[in-house]
Amino acid sequence: MNDYPSGYPEPGKTLVYDDSQTIDLDTVPLNGRFLIKTLVLSIDPYMRGRMRSGGPSYVPPFELGKPITSGGVGVVIRSEKEGVKAGDHVLGLMGHQEYSIRSSLEGMVIIQDKHGLPWSVYLGAAGMPGFTAFVGWKKFAHSKPGDVVFVTTGGGPVGSMVIQIAKAEGLKVIASAGSEEKVAFMKSIGTDVAFNYKTTSTREILEKEGPIDIFWDNVGGEILEAALDAANVNARFIECGMISGYNSGGAPVRNLMLIVGKDITMRGFIQTRHFDEHKDEFYATIPEKLAKGEIKYTEDITHGLDKVGDVMLSVLKGTNKGKAIVHVADE
Ligand code: NDP
Repeated sequence: MNDYPSGYPEPGKTLVYDDSQTIDLDTVPLNGRFLIKTLVLSIDPYMRGRMRSGGPSYVPPFELGKPITSGGVGVVIRSEKEGVKAGDHVLGLMGHQEYSIRSSLEGMVIIQDKHGLPWSVYLGAAGMPGFTAFVGWKKFAHSKPGDVVFVTTGGGPVGSMVIQIAKAEGLKVIASAGSEEKVAFMKSIGTDVAFNYKTTSTREILEKEGPIDIFWDNVGGEILEAALDAANVNARFIECGMISGYNSGGAPVRNLMLIVGKDITMRGFIQTRHFDEHKDEFYATIPEKLAKGEIKYTEDITHGLDKVGDVMLSVLKGTNKGKAIVHVADE
C-alpha cells in the first residue's frame, strides 16, 4: 500500500506492485520460523476499509509501504518450527507477497483434508465468506416456515451461500445482483425471484413479492431503505455489509424509524467474533457439501500478484463474476 485512497483505490498509485526485493529460498535464515510459498489470495470488500490512515474500526489500517494482507492459502516449503513441516498447507491471513516467513501459526490453520476441492474454494464458499453466511444465518435469521427472505449481492460468495441455506429450509427467496450473469447463477441455485437491481426497480419487486421477513443486507443505502419499507412486522435485518458506502462514506437511511413501528430486529455482526465458537461445525459440514455439489459456487480467478489492485477495484465496482481470487503460484 503506497497511499490511502479517498475514493476508489487506484492500481499503480495507491496500491502498487513492487518486485524489487528477492530472497534465496534455500538459504534465507529461518531462526526457528517457517517459509511459506503463497498459492492463492482472497480479495474482499472489507479490505477497502483497511485503506485508511486511522480512526476507529474492528480492523486496523494497512501500513503504508508494507504488503497488504488478506486471507490466503500457502504451502510450507521449509520449516524449523515444531508442528509445521514442509508440504503443509496453511490457510489464514497472509501478506500479499510471493513468499513469507512466519514465526507462529497464530490466525492460521493447517488444512489436512481439502475434500478434493481447489484451494481457492477455501477462500470463498469454504472460507471466510461462506462462514459469514453460515454463522450470520444460524445466529440471527430466526427463520420459520413461510418466511420470505431478501438477499443482496446474491451472486457473490456471501449472498449465494445465504440463498442456498434459505432454500434448503424451503423459504421463498428474492435476491438481487448487478449483472445478468449473476442473475442466471442465482436462478440456478433455486432463487425464486432473481433480478438485476441495475435494470429493475428493487422497490417494485419487493412491493410485488414481499413483504419480507428476513433481509440479508450486504449493500446498505437506498436498498436498505427499500427493504425497510417492504418489511413485515417482526422482520429480522441481518446487517452483514454496506458496500454501497465503502468508497463514498454512504448515504443516509431516511426511514430508520420503521424499525420502531414494525418491531424490526436489526443485527450487525463481524464473522471473526463468532469464528472460534462455530468453525468446527462449519468445516465439518460445508466443505463436504461443496465437494458433493450440494452447494454451488462461482469464482473469478485472476493470475499474478501484480493484478491485486485491478481485482480489488473489480470487487468494489461489481465487475467481478464470482468470488474474487488472485492465483499467485502453482504448487
Ligand atoms: P462479492 O464478491 O459479492 O463482491 C462485492 C459485490 O458487491 C460486487 O461484486 C457487487 O456485486 C456488489 N456491489 C458493489 N458496489 C455496490 C453498490 N454500490 N451497490 C450494490 N452492490 C454493490 O462480496 P462478498 O460476498 O465477499 O461480500 C458481500 C458483503 O458481505 C460485503 O458487503 C462485505 O463487506 C460483507 N461481508 C461481511 C462480513 C462480516 O463479517 N460482517 C464478512 C464478509 C463479507 P453486484 O454485481 O451485485 O453489484
